[in-house]
Amino acid sequence: MKRVDVVIAGGAAIGSSAAYFLASNPDFHGSVLVVEKDFSYEKCATTLSAASIRHQFSTPGNIQMSQFGTEFIKHIGEHLAVNGEAPDVGFHEKGYLFLATPAGQSILESNHRVQRSLGADVSLLTPAQLQTRYPWLNTEDLSAGSLGLSGEGWLDAYGLMHGFRRKAISLGVQYQQAQVVGVKRQGRKVQSVALSDGSSIECAVLINAAGTGAHALAHNAGIDLPVQSRKRCVFHFTSSAQVSNCPMVIDPSGAYFRPEGKGFICGISPPAEQDPECVDFDVQHSLFDDVLWPLLAARVPGFEAVRLQNAWAGHYDMNTFDCNVILGAHPELDNLLFANGFSGHGMQQSPAVGRALSELVAYGAYRSLDLRAFGWNRVLENKPLLEINVV
Ligand SMILES: Cc1cc2nc3c(=O)[nH]c(=O)nc-3n(C[C@H](O)[C@H](O)[C@H](O)COP(=O)(O)OP(=O)(O)OC[C@H]3O[C@@H](n4cnc5c(N)ncnc54)[C@H](O)[C@@H]3O)c2cc1C
Repeated sequence: MKRVDVVIAGGAAIGSSAAYFLASNPDFHGSVLVVEKDFSYEKCATTLSAASIRHQFSTPGNIQMSQFGTEFIKHIGEHLAVNGEAPDVGFHEKGYLFLATPAGQSILESNHRVQRSLGADVSLLTPAQLQTRYPWLNTEDLSAGSLGLSGEGWLDAYGLMHGFRRKAISLGVQYQQAQVVGVKRQGRKVQSVALSDGSSIECAVLINAAGTGAHALAHNAGIDLPVQSRKRCVFHFTSSAQVSNCPMVIDPSGAYFRPEGKGFICGISPPAEQDPECVDFDVQHSLFDDVLWPLLAARVPGFEAVRLQNAWAGHYDMNTFDCNVILGAHPELDNLLFANGFSGHGMQQSPAVGRALSELVAYGAYRSLDLRAFGWNRVLENKPLLEINVV
Protein backbone atom coordinates (compact mmCIF):
# COMPACT_ATOMS: atom_id res chain seq x y z
CA MET A 1 0.00 0.00 0.00
CA LYS A 2 1.26 3.49 -0.89
CA ARG A 3 2.05 5.63 2.13
CA VAL A 4 2.16 9.42 2.47
CA ASP A 5 2.38 11.61 5.53
CA VAL A 6 -0.61 13.82 4.79
CA VAL A 7 -3.59 13.08 2.55
CA ILE A 8 -5.79 16.05 1.78
CA ALA A 9 -9.26 15.08 0.53
CA GLY A 10 -10.42 17.89 -1.76
CA GLY A 11 -8.08 20.13 -3.70
CA ALA A 12 -9.97 23.39 -4.20
CA ALA A 13 -9.32 26.60 -2.23
CA ILE A 14 -9.01 25.02 1.20
CA GLY A 15 -7.25 21.81 0.22
CA SER A 16 -4.79 23.57 -2.06
CA SER A 17 -4.12 26.30 0.50
CA ALA A 18 -3.39 23.66 3.15
CA ALA A 19 -1.11 21.87 0.68
CA TYR A 20 0.77 25.09 -0.08
CA PHE A 21 1.18 26.10 3.57
CA LEU A 22 2.34 22.63 4.53
CA ALA A 23 4.85 22.39 1.72
CA SER A 24 6.23 25.84 2.49
CA ASN A 25 6.43 25.32 6.26
CA PRO A 26 10.12 24.91 7.11
CA ASP A 27 9.21 22.73 10.10
CA PHE A 28 7.26 20.22 8.04
CA HIS A 29 9.30 17.67 6.12
CA GLY A 30 6.68 15.12 5.13
CA SER A 31 4.97 14.15 1.90
CA VAL A 32 1.59 15.57 0.88
CA LEU A 33 -0.94 14.05 -1.49
CA VAL A 34 -4.04 15.98 -2.52
CA VAL A 35 -6.83 13.68 -3.67
CA GLU A 36 -9.34 15.65 -5.73
CA LYS A 37 -12.28 13.99 -7.40
CA ASP A 38 -12.68 16.47 -10.24
CA PHE A 39 -9.75 18.33 -11.75
CA SER A 40 -12.12 20.49 -13.82
CA TYR A 41 -13.27 22.11 -10.55
CA GLU A 42 -16.50 22.99 -12.38
CA LYS A 43 -18.85 22.18 -9.53
CA CYS A 44 -16.88 23.18 -6.47
CA ALA A 45 -17.91 26.16 -4.35
CA THR A 46 -14.61 27.91 -4.91
CA THR A 47 -15.15 28.21 -8.66
CA LEU A 48 -18.83 29.11 -8.37
CA SER A 49 -18.45 31.61 -5.55
CA ALA A 50 -19.02 35.36 -5.53
CA ALA A 51 -15.33 35.58 -4.64
CA SER A 52 -15.52 38.48 -2.24
CA ILE A 53 -13.64 39.26 0.94
CA ARG A 54 -14.77 41.33 3.89
CA HIS A 55 -13.74 42.17 7.42
CA GLN A 56 -17.30 42.89 8.45
CA PHE A 57 -18.18 39.83 10.48
CA SER A 58 -19.58 39.54 13.99
CA THR A 59 -17.20 36.75 15.09
CA PRO A 60 -13.70 38.02 16.00
CA GLY A 61 -11.93 34.99 14.47
CA ASN A 62 -13.70 35.51 11.16
CA ILE A 63 -12.54 39.11 11.07
CA GLN A 64 -8.97 38.08 11.81
CA MET A 65 -8.98 35.29 9.24
CA SER A 66 -10.16 37.68 6.54
CA GLN A 67 -7.63 40.31 7.58
CA PHE A 68 -4.90 37.75 7.02
CA GLY A 69 -6.61 36.79 3.75
CA THR A 70 -6.40 40.37 2.52
CA GLU A 71 -2.74 40.70 3.41
CA PHE A 72 -1.99 37.41 1.71
CA ILE A 73 -3.87 38.38 -1.44
CA LYS A 74 -2.25 41.82 -1.58
CA HIS A 75 1.18 40.21 -1.49
CA ILE A 76 0.29 37.12 -3.43
CA GLY A 77 3.31 37.41 -5.69
CA GLU A 78 5.64 37.07 -2.71
CA HIS A 79 3.93 33.85 -1.67
CA LEU A 80 2.77 32.07 -4.78
CA ALA A 81 5.08 33.08 -7.63
CA VAL A 82 6.49 30.12 -9.55
CA ASN A 83 9.55 30.71 -11.72
CA GLY A 84 9.10 34.44 -11.15
CA GLU A 85 5.52 34.33 -12.43
CA ALA A 86 2.95 35.55 -9.89
CA PRO A 87 -0.74 34.64 -10.09
CA ASP A 88 -3.01 37.52 -11.02
CA VAL A 89 -6.12 37.37 -8.88
CA GLY A 90 -7.38 40.82 -9.88
CA PHE A 91 -8.15 42.10 -6.39
CA HIS A 92 -10.71 44.95 -6.54
CA GLU A 93 -10.41 46.69 -3.18
CA LYS A 94 -13.78 48.42 -3.35
CA GLY A 95 -15.19 47.60 0.07
CA TYR A 96 -18.39 46.13 1.43
CA LEU A 97 -21.30 48.34 2.35
CA PHE A 98 -23.70 46.84 4.89
CA LEU A 99 -26.94 48.82 5.01
CA ALA A 100 -29.28 48.96 8.01
CA THR A 101 -32.81 50.12 8.66
CA PRO A 102 -33.63 51.29 12.20
CA ALA A 103 -34.43 47.65 13.09
CA GLY A 104 -30.90 46.52 12.25
CA GLN A 105 -28.94 49.55 13.37
CA SER A 106 -27.94 48.33 16.83
CA ILE A 107 -26.58 45.07 15.38
CA LEU A 108 -24.65 47.01 12.76
CA GLU A 109 -23.19 49.21 15.48
CA SER A 110 -22.26 46.37 17.80
CA ASN A 111 -20.59 44.49 14.92
CA HIS A 112 -18.80 47.72 14.05
CA ARG A 113 -17.37 47.94 17.56
CA VAL A 114 -16.01 44.39 17.36
CA GLN A 115 -14.53 45.06 13.92
CA ARG A 116 -12.92 48.34 14.99
CA SER A 117 -11.46 46.73 18.12
CA LEU A 118 -9.59 44.37 15.80
CA GLY A 119 -8.31 47.16 13.60
CA ALA A 120 -10.75 46.76 10.71
CA ASP A 121 -10.83 49.87 8.52
CA VAL A 122 -14.59 50.35 8.61
CA SER A 123 -16.68 53.48 8.91
CA LEU A 124 -20.27 54.06 9.97
CA LEU A 125 -22.12 56.40 7.62
CA THR A 126 -25.36 58.29 8.13
CA PRO A 127 -28.03 58.23 5.42
CA ALA A 128 -26.93 61.72 4.34
CA GLN A 129 -23.32 60.60 4.02
CA LEU A 130 -24.45 57.54 2.10
CA GLN A 131 -26.44 59.72 -0.25
CA THR A 132 -23.51 62.03 -0.91
CA ARG A 133 -21.12 59.19 -1.55
CA TYR A 134 -23.56 57.07 -3.56
CA PRO A 135 -26.11 59.35 -5.30
CA TRP A 136 -27.61 56.30 -7.02
CA LEU A 137 -28.65 54.72 -3.70
CA ASN A 138 -32.14 55.00 -2.22
CA THR A 139 -31.54 55.79 1.44
CA GLU A 140 -35.13 56.61 2.42
CA ASP A 141 -35.66 53.65 4.74
CA LEU A 142 -32.05 53.47 5.97
CA SER A 143 -30.65 54.63 9.27
CA ALA A 144 -26.97 53.71 8.77
CA GLY A 145 -24.41 51.98 6.62
CA SER A 146 -21.09 50.38 7.44
CA LEU A 147 -18.44 50.75 4.76
CA GLY A 148 -15.12 48.95 4.51
CA LEU A 149 -12.64 51.65 3.56
CA SER A 150 -9.80 49.27 2.79
CA GLY A 151 -9.01 45.57 2.79
CA GLU A 152 -12.35 44.42 1.41
CA GLY A 153 -13.44 43.67 -2.12
CA TRP A 154 -13.45 40.83 -4.62
CA LEU A 155 -11.07 38.80 -6.69
CA ASP A 156 -10.73 35.83 -9.00
CA ALA A 157 -11.34 32.84 -6.73
CA TYR A 158 -10.33 30.32 -9.36
CA GLY A 159 -7.08 32.26 -9.81
CA LEU A 160 -6.40 32.11 -6.07
CA MET A 161 -7.08 28.37 -5.93
CA HIS A 162 -5.00 27.74 -9.01
CA GLY A 163 -2.18 29.84 -7.53
CA PHE A 164 -2.15 27.74 -4.35
CA ARG A 165 -2.22 24.55 -6.38
CA ARG A 166 0.50 25.54 -8.81
CA LYS A 167 2.80 26.68 -6.02
CA ALA A 168 2.10 23.56 -3.94
CA ILE A 169 3.00 21.34 -6.90
CA SER A 170 6.19 23.33 -7.47
CA LEU A 171 7.08 22.58 -3.83
CA GLY A 172 6.62 18.84 -4.26
CA VAL A 173 2.96 18.25 -3.42
CA GLN A 174 1.31 15.55 -5.50
CA TYR A 175 -2.23 15.78 -6.85
CA GLN A 176 -4.25 12.72 -7.81
CA GLN A 177 -7.66 12.73 -9.44
CA ALA A 178 -9.83 10.32 -7.46
CA GLN A 179 -12.53 10.37 -4.83
CA VAL A 180 -11.90 9.35 -1.25
CA VAL A 181 -14.62 6.74 -0.82
CA GLY A 182 -13.58 5.10 2.42
CA VAL A 183 -11.71 5.85 5.62
CA LYS A 184 -10.15 2.98 7.57
CA ARG A 185 -9.99 3.77 11.22
CA GLN A 186 -8.56 1.93 14.18
CA GLY A 187 -9.49 3.37 17.54
CA ARG A 188 -8.48 7.02 17.67
CA LYS A 189 -6.56 6.91 14.40
CA VAL A 190 -7.27 7.00 10.71
CA GLN A 191 -4.95 4.45 9.16
CA SER A 192 -5.70 4.74 5.45
CA VAL A 193 -8.13 6.02 2.88
CA ALA A 194 -9.75 4.06 0.06
CA LEU A 195 -9.96 5.76 -3.33
CA SER A 196 -12.50 5.41 -6.13
CA ASP A 197 -9.86 3.79 -8.37
CA GLY A 198 -9.70 0.84 -5.97
CA SER A 199 -6.39 1.77 -4.36
CA SER A 200 -5.74 2.55 -0.71
CA ILE A 201 -3.30 5.00 0.79
CA GLU A 202 -1.87 4.85 4.26
CA CYS A 203 -1.45 8.21 5.97
CA ALA A 204 -0.35 9.76 9.23
CA VAL A 205 -2.82 12.65 8.87
CA LEU A 206 -6.00 13.06 6.83
CA ILE A 207 -7.39 16.53 6.13
CA ASN A 208 -11.05 16.82 5.24
CA ALA A 209 -11.22 19.69 2.71
CA ALA A 210 -14.04 18.15 0.75
CA GLY A 211 -16.49 21.08 0.80
CA THR A 212 -20.01 19.74 0.40
CA GLY A 213 -18.51 16.24 0.29
CA ALA A 214 -17.23 16.69 3.84
CA HIS A 215 -20.24 15.17 5.56
CA ALA A 216 -19.92 11.90 3.62
CA LEU A 217 -16.20 11.73 4.26
CA ALA A 218 -16.69 12.34 7.99
CA HIS A 219 -19.46 9.71 8.04
CA ASN A 220 -16.99 7.19 6.57
CA ALA A 221 -14.78 7.88 9.56
CA GLY A 222 -17.68 7.45 11.97
CA ILE A 223 -18.14 11.15 12.71
CA ASP A 224 -21.39 13.05 12.32
CA LEU A 225 -20.43 16.42 10.84
CA PRO A 226 -23.24 19.02 10.87
CA VAL A 227 -22.56 20.26 7.35
CA GLN A 228 -25.07 20.20 4.53
CA SER A 229 -25.14 21.35 0.94
CA ARG A 230 -27.27 24.46 0.38
CA LYS A 231 -27.91 25.88 -3.09
CA ARG A 232 -27.08 29.51 -3.80
CA CYS A 233 -27.82 31.18 -7.16
CA VAL A 234 -25.80 34.04 -8.58
CA PHE A 235 -27.22 36.30 -11.30
CA HIS A 236 -25.16 38.46 -13.65
CA PHE A 237 -26.93 41.46 -15.14
CA THR A 238 -26.13 44.67 -16.97
CA SER A 239 -27.76 48.05 -16.55
CA SER A 240 -27.39 51.44 -18.18
CA ALA A 241 -27.76 53.10 -14.75
CA GLN A 242 -24.84 55.22 -13.58
CA VAL A 243 -23.78 53.31 -10.47
CA SER A 244 -20.31 54.68 -9.96
CA ASN A 245 -17.82 53.70 -7.26
CA CYS A 246 -20.01 50.76 -6.29
CA PRO A 247 -18.84 48.52 -3.42
CA MET A 248 -20.28 45.10 -2.56
CA VAL A 249 -23.65 46.25 -1.21
CA ILE A 250 -25.49 44.15 1.38
CA ASP A 251 -29.10 45.28 1.51
CA PRO A 252 -31.06 44.97 4.80
CA SER A 253 -33.16 42.34 3.00
CA GLY A 254 -30.08 40.14 2.69
CA ALA A 255 -29.77 40.71 -1.06
CA TYR A 256 -26.29 41.59 -2.28
CA PHE A 257 -24.92 43.11 -5.47
CA ARG A 258 -21.54 44.23 -6.70
CA PRO A 259 -19.88 45.15 -9.99
CA GLU A 260 -18.57 42.32 -12.14
CA GLY A 261 -16.95 43.15 -15.45
CA LYS A 262 -19.24 45.54 -17.34
CA GLY A 263 -22.25 44.56 -15.22
CA PHE A 264 -23.12 43.35 -11.75
CA ILE A 265 -23.69 40.12 -9.91
CA CYS A 266 -26.31 39.65 -7.24
CA GLY A 267 -27.85 37.00 -5.04
CA ILE A 268 -29.76 36.34 -1.85
CA SER A 269 -29.97 33.50 0.64
CA PRO A 270 -33.46 32.02 0.95
CA PRO A 271 -35.24 32.08 4.31
CA ALA A 272 -34.18 29.12 6.47
CA GLU A 273 -37.51 27.31 6.03
CA GLN A 274 -37.08 27.40 2.24
CA ASP A 275 -33.47 26.29 2.25
CA PRO A 276 -33.41 22.50 2.17
CA GLU A 277 -30.37 20.33 1.62
CA CYS A 278 -29.87 20.41 -2.13
CA VAL A 279 -27.33 19.05 -4.58
CA ASP A 280 -28.67 20.03 -8.01
CA PHE A 281 -27.29 22.92 -10.02
CA ASP A 282 -30.58 24.19 -11.49
CA VAL A 283 -30.81 27.96 -11.42
CA GLN A 284 -33.94 29.21 -9.70
CA HIS A 285 -34.82 31.95 -12.20
CA SER A 286 -37.92 33.03 -10.31
CA LEU A 287 -35.61 34.15 -7.51
CA PHE A 288 -34.29 36.90 -9.75
CA ASP A 289 -37.65 37.92 -11.24
CA ASP A 290 -39.78 37.74 -8.11
CA VAL A 291 -37.38 38.55 -5.29
CA LEU A 292 -34.06 40.04 -6.31
CA TRP A 293 -35.00 42.43 -9.06
CA PRO A 294 -37.72 44.18 -7.00
CA LEU A 295 -35.30 44.52 -4.08
CA LEU A 296 -32.52 45.86 -6.29
CA ALA A 297 -34.81 48.34 -8.03
CA ALA A 298 -36.07 49.58 -4.68
CA ARG A 299 -32.50 50.12 -3.48
CA VAL A 300 -31.10 51.52 -6.75
CA PRO A 301 -33.85 53.11 -8.83
CA GLY A 302 -31.58 52.89 -11.89
CA PHE A 303 -31.91 49.11 -11.64
CA GLU A 304 -35.55 49.36 -12.77
CA ALA A 305 -34.07 48.54 -16.17
CA VAL A 306 -31.67 45.61 -16.12
CA ARG A 307 -30.80 42.85 -18.53
CA LEU A 308 -30.07 39.42 -17.11
CA GLN A 309 -26.97 38.06 -18.84
CA ASN A 310 -26.09 34.88 -17.08
CA ALA A 311 -26.80 32.90 -13.93
CA TRP A 312 -25.37 29.91 -12.11
CA ALA A 313 -25.94 27.85 -9.00
CA GLY A 314 -23.36 26.64 -6.52
CA HIS A 315 -23.50 25.17 -3.04
CA TYR A 316 -22.50 26.45 0.35
CA ASP A 317 -21.05 23.82 2.67
CA MET A 318 -23.41 25.06 5.36
CA ASN A 319 -22.65 24.42 9.00
CA THR A 320 -26.22 23.91 10.21
CA PHE A 321 -25.09 24.26 13.83
CA ASP A 322 -23.73 27.84 13.80
CA CYS A 323 -22.67 28.94 10.29
CA ASN A 324 -18.95 28.88 11.05
CA VAL A 325 -16.12 26.63 10.00
CA ILE A 326 -15.43 23.52 12.07
CA LEU A 327 -11.66 23.40 12.24
CA GLY A 328 -9.28 20.81 13.63
CA ALA A 329 -9.53 17.31 15.06
CA HIS A 330 -12.56 15.68 16.63
CA PRO A 331 -11.87 14.75 20.28
CA GLU A 332 -12.35 11.05 19.42
CA LEU A 333 -10.07 10.99 16.41
CA ASP A 334 -6.54 12.34 16.59
CA ASN A 335 -5.34 12.51 13.01
CA LEU A 336 -8.35 13.60 10.97
CA LEU A 337 -8.35 17.39 10.66
CA PHE A 338 -11.59 19.04 9.59
CA ALA A 339 -11.95 22.33 7.70
CA ASN A 340 -15.59 22.32 6.80
CA GLY A 341 -18.86 24.20 7.11
CA PHE A 342 -17.67 27.56 5.80
CA SER A 343 -21.27 28.64 5.19
CA GLY A 344 -20.44 31.08 2.40
CA HIS A 345 -17.20 32.62 3.61
CA GLY A 346 -14.56 30.01 2.90
CA MET A 347 -12.85 31.46 -0.15
CA GLN A 348 -11.63 34.48 1.82
CA GLN A 349 -10.68 32.27 4.76
CA SER A 350 -8.64 29.89 2.64
CA PRO A 351 -5.24 31.52 3.32
CA ALA A 352 -5.79 31.64 7.10
CA VAL A 353 -7.29 28.16 7.27
CA GLY A 354 -4.57 26.64 5.11
CA ARG A 355 -1.96 28.18 7.39
CA ALA A 356 -3.84 26.99 10.48
CA LEU A 357 -4.03 23.41 9.18
CA SER A 358 -0.31 23.42 8.41
CA GLU A 359 0.37 24.53 12.00
CA LEU A 360 -1.84 21.79 13.43
CA VAL A 361 0.06 19.22 11.38
CA ALA A 362 3.56 20.59 12.03
CA TYR A 363 3.22 21.67 15.68
CA GLY A 364 0.00 20.10 16.95
CA ALA A 365 -1.24 23.60 17.85
CA TYR A 366 -1.96 26.99 16.33
CA ARG A 367 1.06 29.27 16.17
CA SER A 368 -0.20 32.43 14.44
CA LEU A 369 -3.94 32.95 14.87
CA ASP A 370 -5.53 31.10 17.77
CA LEU A 371 -8.52 29.48 16.10
CA ARG A 372 -9.47 27.08 18.91
CA ALA A 373 -12.87 28.76 19.15
CA PHE A 374 -13.69 27.14 15.79
CA GLY A 375 -12.96 23.64 17.07
CA TRP A 376 -15.30 20.70 17.60
CA ASN A 377 -15.79 21.36 21.32
CA ARG A 378 -18.36 24.06 20.80
CA VAL A 379 -20.39 21.67 18.65
CA LEU A 380 -20.19 18.80 21.10
CA GLU A 381 -20.91 21.06 24.06
CA ASN A 382 -23.79 22.69 22.18
CA LYS A 383 -22.32 26.18 22.53
CA PRO A 384 -22.77 27.75 19.08
CA LEU A 385 -20.30 30.35 17.88
CA LEU A 386 -22.96 32.06 15.87
CA GLU A 387 -21.94 34.29 12.97
CA ILE A 388 -24.60 36.97 12.48
CA ASN A 389 -23.26 38.39 9.22
CA VAL A 390 -23.90 35.44 6.91
CA VAL A 391 -24.51 36.67 3.37
C1 LIG B 1 -22.68 31.00 -4.82
C2 LIG B 1 -21.59 31.08 -3.81
C3 LIG B 1 -21.08 32.32 -3.46
C4 LIG B 1 -19.99 32.38 -2.55
N1 LIG B 1 -19.45 33.59 -2.28
C5 LIG B 1 -18.38 33.66 -1.46
C6 LIG B 1 -17.73 34.90 -1.24
O1 LIG B 1 -18.12 35.93 -1.79
N2 LIG B 1 -16.66 34.92 -0.40
C7 LIG B 1 -16.20 33.80 0.22
O2 LIG B 1 -15.24 33.88 0.96
N3 LIG B 1 -16.79 32.61 0.01
C8 LIG B 1 -17.86 32.51 -0.81
N4 LIG B 1 -18.48 31.33 -1.02
C9 LIG B 1 -18.04 30.17 -0.23
C10 LIG B 1 -16.75 29.62 -0.74
O3 LIG B 1 -16.83 29.45 -2.13
C11 LIG B 1 -16.48 28.28 -0.06
O4 LIG B 1 -16.61 28.42 1.34
C12 LIG B 1 -15.07 27.83 -0.34
O5 LIG B 1 -14.81 27.87 -1.72
C13 LIG B 1 -14.88 26.43 0.22
O6 LIG B 1 -13.69 25.89 -0.33
P1 LIG B 1 -13.45 24.35 -0.17
O7 LIG B 1 -12.14 24.08 -0.83
O8 LIG B 1 -13.65 23.96 1.24
O9 LIG B 1 -14.66 23.67 -0.95
P2 LIG B 1 -14.92 23.48 -2.51
O10 LIG B 1 -14.49 24.64 -3.30
O11 LIG B 1 -16.34 23.04 -2.66
O12 LIG B 1 -13.97 22.28 -2.87
C14 LIG B 1 -14.14 20.99 -2.33
C15 LIG B 1 -13.43 20.05 -3.27
O13 LIG B 1 -13.44 18.75 -2.72
C16 LIG B 1 -13.66 17.82 -3.76
N5 LIG B 1 -14.21 16.63 -3.11
C17 LIG B 1 -15.39 16.50 -2.49
N6 LIG B 1 -15.51 15.28 -1.95
C18 LIG B 1 -14.37 14.63 -2.23
C19 LIG B 1 -13.88 13.34 -1.92
N7 LIG B 1 -14.60 12.48 -1.18
N8 LIG B 1 -12.67 12.98 -2.40
C20 LIG B 1 -11.91 13.84 -3.13
N9 LIG B 1 -12.34 15.09 -3.44
C21 LIG B 1 -13.53 15.48 -2.97
C22 LIG B 1 -14.60 18.52 -4.70
O14 LIG B 1 -14.51 17.99 -6.02
C23 LIG B 1 -14.10 19.96 -4.64
O15 LIG B 1 -13.19 20.28 -5.64
C24 LIG B 1 -19.50 31.20 -1.94
C25 LIG B 1 -20.02 29.96 -2.30
C26 LIG B 1 -21.04 29.89 -3.24
C27 LIG B 1 -21.57 28.55 -3.63
